Amino acid sequence: MAKTVISMHDITVIPGDGIGKEVMNATLHILDALNIDLNYTKAYAGNECFQKWGTTIPEDTISLARNSDATLFGAVTTVPGQKSAIITLRKELDLYANIRPVKSYPGVRSVYQDLDLVIIRENTEGLYSGIEEETDDGASALRVITRKASQRICKFAFDYVKHTGRRKLTAVHKANVLKLTDGLFRDIFYDLARKYEDVEAEDRYVDAMAMFLVTKPHKFDVIVTTNLFGDILSDEGAGLVGGLGLAPSANIGKENGLFEPVHGSAPAIAGLGVANPSAMILSAVMMLNYLKEFGEASRLDKALKEVLREGKVATLDLGGGSSTMEMAEAIRKKLVE
Ligand code: NAD
Repeated sequence: MAKTVISMHDITVIPGDGIGKEVMNATLHILDALNIDLNYTKAYAGNECFQKWGTTIPEDTISLARNSDATLFGAVTTVPGQKSAIITLRKELDLYANIRPVKSYPGVRSVYQDLDLVIIRENTEGLYSGIEEETDDGASALRVITRKASQRICKFAFDYVKHTGRRKLTAVHKANVLKLTDGLFRDIFYDLARKYEDVEAEDRYVDAMAMFLVTKPHKFDVIVTTNLFGDILSDEGAGLVGGLGLAPSANIGKENGLFEPVHGSAPAIAGLGVANPSAMILSAVMMLNYLKEFGEASRLDKALKEVLREGKVATLDLGGGSSTMEMAEAIRKKLVE
């Protein structure tokens, strides 16, 4: 069937390292079957990039990502001592909001079925500010919490709850111990809550939240938290719904959007062609929604869900024996049949 192209977007594609490259290939193969014209420019980042050009994140890559309509990012290997490519991109593009859905899919073996919550993580400061120094007896890292970053992430989260028709927002912090930093974050959250009377606002300590995510996750709807807590809780969330192979994310700023799976480059399975491409594909669905291509986003989401529900073509982590590209082919087939 001839493809009816309805719009055109410039997309920066950063495959990265390891399985990042494999799940990106699979995803581009599927996106090619959509009724949408995506104009890709490939850019480099990560450890292989460092080996070739001596930097994990060249200026050209940052500039391309800044000037495109959206960026698709696979995953990178971060070698200790190297500058993290993804953290640099998030900071350079001021991608302050990291949206990480925790959603279960029919047909996927998981701890919980019918789970549908979202973690919104502050993406530019906290313990990932990268301010570390050696001390007489070791080293220390600075955990930066600013009024500006806390206000904009909490506002983003309240707006997200409203725009997506959700009902409740939970702020997660450790203000009982980190009185100044997380105390500020919690106070800003409740100040804003007064302006969003129709959103139920509550807060939890991060340690208790880690347990509640396992014992009663259905009680939560949208969670907003600081950088490291959000990173840890979202991996925990992924573990409840089938693993990292199914966990997508969006990094959103005022001017740019970057979409990437939560997982890393998975060196243990890299090169074997067995990585689950679902997290990357779901990240592409988030990108299409960001580009307001709602129809094609929904078609792609549906095609993936059907393949997951049928369970006939599934990668190792899903209990099957199919390769990354076999799964991609099965999803693509749903789009063109
Ligand atoms: P990882 O996410 O790469 O892997 C964790 C576990 O999940 C491994 O057992 C892996 O095999 C499995 N896994 C991950 N994605 C999978 C998929 N799509 N299909 C099937 N199984 C999958 O985390 P890690 O092992 O802690 O880190 C490996 C490298 O990735 C490190 O260099 C780390 O710094 C980097 N990393 C990068 C990012 C990023 O690029 N955003 C995120 C996390 C880790």
